[in-house]
Amino acid sequence: MINISSPLELPALRLNDRLEHLLNQARAQESRFIDLAPSRGLELWHLDKVCSYASGNKFFKQALYWLAAETHPELPLLSFGGAYSNHLYALAAEAQRKKRNLIAVVRGLHEGPLNPCLRDLENMGASIQFVSRQDYRRKDDQDYLNELAQQWGPFIHVPEGGGGLMGAFGAQAIGLAAAEKDIENIVLAVGTGSTAAGVLAGLDIACRRQLLQGCRPSFKRLLLVPVIKLQRQPDQKNVLDEIQYLRSQLADVNAERLGVDANVETSDWVQWECCEGFQFGGYGKFPPQLARFLSSFESKFSVTLDPVYTAKAMAMACRFIAEEHYPDLPELSSRNSAQHQRLLFIHSGGLQGRRGFGLL
Ligand SMILES: *Cc1c(COP(=O)(O)O)cnc(C)c1O
Repeated sequence: MINISSPLELPALRLNDRLEHLLNQARAQESRFIDLAPSRGLELWHLDKVCSYASGNKFFKQALYWLAAETHPELPLLSFGGAYSNHLYALAAEAQRKKRNLIAVVRGLHEGPLNPCLRDLENMGASIQFVSRQDYRRKDDQDYLNELAQQWGPFIHVPEGGGGLMGAFGAQAIGLAAAEKDIENIVLAVGTGSTAAGVLAGLDIACRRQLLQGCRPSFKRLLLVPVIKLQRQPDQKNVLDEIQYLRSQLADVNAERLGVDANVETSDWVQWECCEGFQFGGYGKFPPQLARFLSSFESKFSVTLDPVYTAKAMAMACRFIAEEHYPDLPELSSRNSAQHQRLLFIHSGGLQGRRGFGLL
């Protein structure tokens, strides 16, 4: 079984090329301005359209895993996800395009007909293995991965969500492209946090390069909207700690591979804030309050969002920027003093998951 956990295991030249390619993809995605109130609104950045089959942030997160897979053209990939996983969906679509095999280990035992997402996975050629929730919890244990390798033969392991340092490295392209936009505040939905870490590290790269050239960087603040309840117990890993950890690890990778000095301080220019309170009951929960917001927002602005991630982030953005128009949404737990007229909203994709909520 092949485990690749760091971009440093990949050839420097290929890594640079891939990041450059991803940056150009991010730059090329259209954004459109949405007026929420007179002279207040958001720029909706359509990263969901970056690729017709692997939507949004998964396109960026999976790029390095695919680069690593090129070294082992004969091996299948194996990864993990839930029954409506955007990650597995994107991975299966790319596997089909690249004529590679994918083993999709899906959480929960299953009976009866496949749901539309799983049916798509199968039609795209993935081999699906359903495992109990207990087994699924062992998805990161070497012992369990070895058991799977005995069953399936050798494979390239892509961790659940395609995250970690490999995933976050690709997401840096989003931060690099965002740094070129003339908007201070950026809104992003957060699951595992690897996209957020990548965006911050990408903003760091742009900032450090400017400082090293003697230019004044533009100020950026990333507003993170967690869709999963944050762990508060001291012994539990918190997504915010994970973001900090990956961001600093990436700084070391970028120093080594891109020659961007990690010691150049960016804290005056690149900041982030956690905007909690928009989980709407927790991961995958879609209470009536959120459903009402989503349908009214979508019909008013002709935008399509996904219930798990982008709808929750959009609820935060609307409350943030045009509070008086959205009194039914949760209150903002923290609000910085500056008056914000404009936000850059990252549409991270996930639209196939709407089917899990009976939305088309
Ligand atoms: C997976 C996903 C996210 C969360 O990304 P993380 O890197 O896990 O934080 C956000 N939005 C969409 C649409 C996703 O599919």
